[in-house]
Amino acid sequence: MGESPQPRGRGARVAAIVPAAGRGERLGGGTPKALRSLGGRPMLVRSVEALRRSELVTQIVVAAPPTLVEVVAQLLGRDVRVIAGGAERVDSVRRALSAIDEDISVVLVHDAARPLTPPALVDAVAAAVIAGHPAVIPVLAVADTIKEVGPDGRVIRTPPRDGLRAVQTPQGFRRDVLAAAYALRDVPVTDDAGLVEALGVPVTTVPGAHEAFKVTQPADLILAEALLARAATAADGRGETEVCGTTDARRPG
Ligand code: C5P
Repeated sequence: MGESPQPRGRGARVAAIVPAAGRGERLGGGTPKALRSLGGRPMLVRSVEALRRSELVTQIVVAAPPTLVEVVAQLLGRDVRVIAGGAERVDSVRRALSAIDEDISVVLVHDAARPLTPPALVDAVAAAVIAGHPAVIPVLAVADTIKEVGPDGRVIRTPPRDGLRAVQTPQGFRRDVLAAAYALRDVPVTDDAGLVEALGVPVTTVPGAHEAFKVTQPADLILAEALLARAATAADGRGETEVCGTTDARRPG
């Protein structure tokens, strides 16, 4: 893992990868989830906008459904590299990783389905990696009690809620660490940091942002639309459309 450029200090180049090649069937509607309109603009365009408005991200690579590469490239503009995604999310991320510039030393992986992510959160994650943390994830305390449930529907155990966190994106990594994680095979994880944990690399947390929630169910779309409408009203006359900022997202935990 020693050959990639190192991220420490000023001038680290940061790429953001957005795997957006899935079908997103849980949301319904027939359109790939990333291209569903939210307040008049596709969700993916909004998610990419947060990366574009980050002060630290220097390159953006989006993995699109193979049949929609041209369409997505047109939507996102020339400053975003759009590539064909693979069969599974891991394949899409692997392809995107191989498409980033050589001098990139920090890589963020961001869900296309988090359209209201504040740019400050993107910068907080990138800054923590640049400061020397090999892997950084934004987290929120969980409101619900979480239970582990067996296939028969019976509760196995109730982990103490105080120690549980919900994980958001972008997740940030030293490039060599993420590349090594994606070289692993057959590790059943649900996020990129899970792969890095399997390597034995420490993962650091920063405070997440409630607005960075993932749009998964139809009700999430309604919430996102409402937040956008409220922001548009609040910004009336100021030409701003930011939903709201994170206050303490810059502090690694
Ligand atoms: O379907 P799921 O919610 O697990 O997808 C997570 C993310 O991975 C989505 O943004 C989806 O577009 C992306 N994905 C991908 N390539 C695939 C499957 C999913 O980029 N083949």
